Amino acid sequence: MDMNTIEAVVRTTDPAQWRDGDAWLAGGTVLFSYGSYAFGPKPLTRLLDLGAAGWTPMTISDDGIELAATCTIAQLYSLPDSPELSGRTWSGLDLVRACCDSFVASFKVWNMSTVGGNLCTSLPAGPIISLCAGLDGTATILGPGGASRHVPVTEFITGDATNCLAPGELLRSVHVPASALSGRVAFRRLSLSNLGRSGVLLIGRLDGGTSLVLTVTAATKRPVQLRFDGLPEADGLAAALDEAIPGELYHDDIHGLPAWRRDMTYRLAEEIRAELAAPEGAAGLAVSGDFWPRTGPAAGPTTLPKGA
Ligand SMILES: Cc1cc2nc3c(=O)[nH]c(=O)nc-3n(C[C@H](O)[C@H](O)[C@H](O)COP(=O)(O)OP(=O)(O)OC[C@H]3O[C@@H](n4cnc5c(N)ncnc54)[C@H](O)[C@@H]3O)c2cc1C
Repeated sequence: MDMNTIEAVVRTTDPAQWRDGDAWLAGGTVLFSYGSYAFGPKPLTRLLDLGAAGWTPMTISDDGIELAATCTIAQLYSLPDSPELSGRTWSGLDLVRACCDSFVASFKVWNMSTVGGNLCTSLPAGPIISLCAGLDGTATILGPGGASRHVPVTEFITGDATNCLAPGELLRSVHVPASALSGRVAFRRLSLSNLGRSGVLLIGRLDGGTSLVLTVTAATKRPVQLRFDGLPEADGLAAALDEAIPGELYHDDIHGLPAWRRDMTYRLAEEIRAELAAPEGAAGLAVSGDFWPRTGPAAGPTTLPKGA
């Protein structure tokens, strides 16, 4: 939509230039959909355009991967094909396309919207939030006067469309550590409709072949991460979910009732536990691809062979 309250578009990445009535402009898919009046009590008057930031979209090193806030979904999708990854056995890369594909986006949104825009919009169904939280990503946040701070993505998102950014702060990048990329991963997602937003998205990771890290997103208003020293039994996992996620933390909107999201969280968590308990290679990365509610045979996940 037209943002006819905008008086200026300023090309900058300097938080010192931010003033009341400004918004950082990344891909613009939210800003130009929601309009000037959706971001506070007063309409927006300036857009601070990150389009000329010139930040390298993805930087690969032995430490892991640095995703610039301005990296688009299309660029992120190409990451697993990067020649710089050859020789690295980072199973966590299997999550990149699974999460991008959870973004049921049009061609325009796919090519314009950014990693940073997805995190800063902070929707429960933010698929890049799921990816970065599930791989222990850490956000680098810039403030005025050269200030910067680092926040785990699981803490960056504080609720439904809320995050820890102070007015004017700029998300610069997300670092995904090699230690998390090296873990074996499992992925499950459900949506109420075939091309709908995620209602439940869970990522499991087995660090060092033994320690389970389970990240619950989309079902809950903010990411919830559970860490286990080993691989729990089914009842231990369910008890840990009981403790970690109070009823009111399950999200409630048109994409799923809280009771459904809760039931599916327990079901998918158990599927992930069972998958990671089985010997490696027994199954590929499972994608729950049968999204429709059914009355016939149970809707189960579609298991894709590795590399499919
Ligand atoms: C058809 C359609 C489908 C969509 N489906 C989904 C979906 O399934 N899941 C989902 O989560 N979203 C969805 N969205 C919403 C949106 O497209 C995404 O969240 C997208 O990732 C936003 O990125 P952007 O770069 O376009 O953000 P922008 O529109 O540029 O910005 C969004 C917000 O983030 C702020 N911002 C952007 N970058 C930064 C930064 N680096 N630092 C600080 N603040 C920043 C902006 O000021 C603004 O408030 C959809 C939108 C459309 C139009």
